[in-house]
Amino acid sequence: MPHVIIVGCGIIGATIAYELSRLPDLAITVLEQQPEATFFPAMAPPVSASRPDWPTLRPVASHAALGILVGISSQKRKGRAWNLRQASIRRYHSLLPELTALTGQPIAHNPQGLLHLLTADANLGDWQTLCEQRASQGFRLDYLSQEQLHDRYPDLDLTGVVAGIHSPQDLHIQPAALLRALIAAARQQGVQFHFTTAVEAVEPCHAAMAPTSSSHNPMAIVHTQTDSFSADWVILAAGLGTAAVIPPGQPPVALMPVLGQGIQVRLTRPLAGHVPLPVVTRNDIHIAPLDTHDYWIGATVEFPQPETPLVPDRAQLQTVWEQAIACLPALAEATWVETWYGLRPRPTHQPAPIIEKLAGYPNVILATGHYRNGILLAPATAQQVSTLMGVNLPLPDAAGSLHQGKA
Ligand SMILES: Cc1cc2nc3c(=O)[nH]c(=O)nc-3n(C[C@H](O)[C@H](O)[C@H](O)COP(=O)(O)OP(=O)(O)OC[C@H]3O[C@@H](n4cnc5c(N)ncnc54)[C@H](O)[C@@H]3O)c2cc1C
Repeated sequence: MPHVIIVGCGIIGATIAYELSRLPDLAITVLEQQPEATFFPAMAPPVSASRPDWPTLRPVASHAALGILVGISSQKRKGRAWNLRQASIRRYHSLLPELTALTGQPIAHNPQGLLHLLTADANLGDWQTLCEQRASQGFRLDYLSQEQLHDRYPDLDLTGVVAGIHSPQDLHIQPAALLRALIAAARQQGVQFHFTTAVEAVEPCHAAMAPTSSSHNPMAIVHTQTDSFSADWVILAAGLGTAAVIPPGQPPVALMPVLGQGIQVRLTRPLAGHVPLPVVTRNDIHIAPLDTHDYWIGATVEFPQPETPLVPDRAQLQTVWEQAIACLPALAEATWVETWYGLRPRPTHQPAPIIEKLAGYPNVILATGHYRNGILLAPATAQQVSTLMGVNLPLPDAAGSLHQGKA
């Protein structure tokens, strides 16, 4: 049975592992440098001595993500960027119920969609055309006037807002819950996970080098500090860590870290409006309700500066916070529960994401560099990886297919 090794268990590695586990004839192993408790904190609750207003680093970027899927309402209209987005949104609508059925655990998400608040500088004609185009593509995007916005969402401050776009099929998914479900479901389907296992190198395999346990001629050997694993396929999904494990002699995979901070806040009482809030987005600031009291707000986009350590900039987080209050004034009363930051993997010389075979290694696949959209693009990435491997993923159960959302 061909052996697939996946390096990294962020959202990309875990999604690929789960999707490939739906095929009966693959043996799959995931190698992840972080301990299992990073992914299942209930097994070893972290002792948090941190101040809620002082951001702590989440070393797995997927745990730092807000989990907002700007798919149908993205401005991408055609080509690779749109194809990946629409494939992912379609798959998420079947994936969430599928994972819940397998694990018995619901995955925390907000099905109210996304609401983009448009200000005077927005090209309203462009947005109206996009709504029509999405309808012709089988999706739904609703144009809302200022009056409609006010009636439906009275808690929002609409000063400077000229219209809104509601995208009922886009989602907000809590990434840690999704990751846990993917790992649990993949495990049930036979995937082996090795945590606290950092990959040090990947090298092409010559017969004499194959580990003695290998019964065939593997294509590559994956070395960790203590072990060597033979593999027929190696999928490098190690986020920013990918560059360090590509085989020697390869052109480097150029990725830069782009820092992002987020905040969780809590209201003492629910909002006045009767319609539950979708994720609200204005000028690239997102307010994502988790329930009636807790909200995630973010995120900053902080690029590395020459000869300066990349550390969270308090002033940028403050700006995000002030813009969020300007949009939803009730937040001014909220208390901060937590702030955190993570590092997004951004390709330096090519568009995000990188999903391709490594030059000269037909069985080593790069699946990295998802920058600001790794949660969104994970299912489509798994589909592309399977295509590169020459295997077809089974079609998802029709029961969870894309619905038209609430009016
Ligand atoms: C503040 C913030 C907000 C964001 N919001 C969103 C959002 O709303 N929507 C969205 O779609 N995206 C969002 N993103 C982007 C998203 O987080 C990333 O694109 C995505 O998490 C990348 O996933 P990944 O699996 O490639 O990397 P990671 O999640 O970093 O996973 C890589 C894994 O590989 C492991 N690894 C690394 N090196 C090795 C090695 N040598 N051996 C073994 N394991 C290794 C790491 O420990 C890690 O677990 C946000 C990011 C940030 C920081």
